[in-house]
Amino acid sequence: MMGKSSWMVKTFFKMKPGVAGKFIKGMLGAKKYYRSIGAAVVNMKDLVRCMCCPDMCKFECPSLRVTRKEMYAPATKARIAYHIERGDLDPANPHTAEIPYMCTNCNGCKHWCPMDISTGQLLKGVRADLVARDCVSDDLKDFDTRVLENGTTFTKTTFTSRPEFDVRAENPDVFYYMGCVMAEKKPEAVLANMAILKKAGVTFSTLAAERCCCGGPSNTVGFQATTRHLAAKNLALFARSGAKTIVTDCPACADTLRNTYKELGFKHGYMVFTTVEFFKLLIEQGTLKLSKPVNETITYHDPCITARYFDDVTSARAILGKIPGLVLKEPFLTKEETQCCGMGGVSHVHHPEESEAIGKQRYDQLLSTGAKFIVTACPACEQGFMIAAGKDSTRVVDIAELIAAAIE
Ligand code: SF4
Ligand code: SF4
Repeated sequence: MMGKSSWMVKTFFKMKPGVAGKFIKGMLGAKKYYRSIGAAVVNMKDLVRCMCCPDMCKFECPSLRVTRKEMYAPATKARIAYHIERGDLDPANPHTAEIPYMCTNCNGCKHWCPMDISTGQLLKGVRADLVARDCVSDDLKDFDTRVLENGTTFTKTTFTSRPEFDVRAENPDVFYYMGCVMAEKKPEAVLANMAILKKAGVTFSTLAAERCCCGGPSNTVGFQATTRHLAAKNLALFARSGAKTIVTDCPACADTLRNTYKELGFKHGYMVFTTVEFFKLLIEQGTLKLSKPVNETITYHDPCITARYFDDVTSARAILGKIPGLVLKEPFLTKEETQCCGMGGVSHVHHPEESEAIGKQRYDQLLSTGAKFIVTACPACEQGFMIAAGKDSTRVVDIAELIAAAIE
């Protein structure tokens, strides 16, 4: 962290003594004005630090990049959010309340921030405060109702229309928790995950007909009560399954089950793995062997959550490196510097045009490697790239499909 901020420290020490003194006095003197009105979910201390920053992460923000509007730059969003929290701006004005939502929660800002702040994470708290004040768009209210009524971010039939998704085993090794987006948009990857688990001799249950959305999307846009409701239901289901380990095909679900539930006060002792983390372990243990050649050229897109929330840029590459015949071409922006697919932060619900524009930018970057296939390990990224690909959507591949193809 010091490496990122060292230039600021140097700048400060290069100030003339009188200027440095004024700077410190001004910062300390102004501190007392930086107060919220009433109770707030948002972390006000970090919100103030972010809004006072000269926007050093600005170049990375995908929302700013596609809109080209200063009001969507990270520190500007923090400033507007701060004035909403303090009561200077009216959140009942839909133009104001919309601004904290123009963010895909990609954590690109945090990667570059000298203070390790994520504007996106701060805005989650602001959105919870907006929901508490009933200042959210009808699109988001409809989304919340849909999740509560259907138990998925899509329709009631996402899981029930496919009986093959519903697997029940007694005291299984793992609970395979399918993400809503994977089941709805990439069912072939769900089947690939099941085939891999079977091949490795791992017993599993899905209880697909009863499982609910993890609640992560609702939490991201501020509906914490919905997330609490879904967390209680899912944890009861996991307990009933008898499994002690949860494997999920969606990094956002993994983050919710692993971290958000605990942040919202739910204690549990489940080990939560992404499919990539779990399959890497199986390969290391020798229970999963990738011996069949896959003679293709691919590029790999690091999902924001695995690269910048979990700091894991090695597991997927370790797996890809074991597949005979596979050629990996890294994109220019890769690993921790990966760029957003546009689908995070439920953006496709509240800002569909911008969400698709972000996805298209990244899709073009990935294809400029010359690779035939884009491989990733997140159903939301896959959805974003499949929209960008149009009729070429078969070029977008989940890593599970590739692993399944490499098993004899
Ligand atoms: S996230 Fe960090 S670098 Fe970006 S505007 Fe906020 S404080 Fe500044
Ligand atoms: S999380 Fe991503 S979209 Fe949101 S402010 Fe930071 S860089 Fe921009």
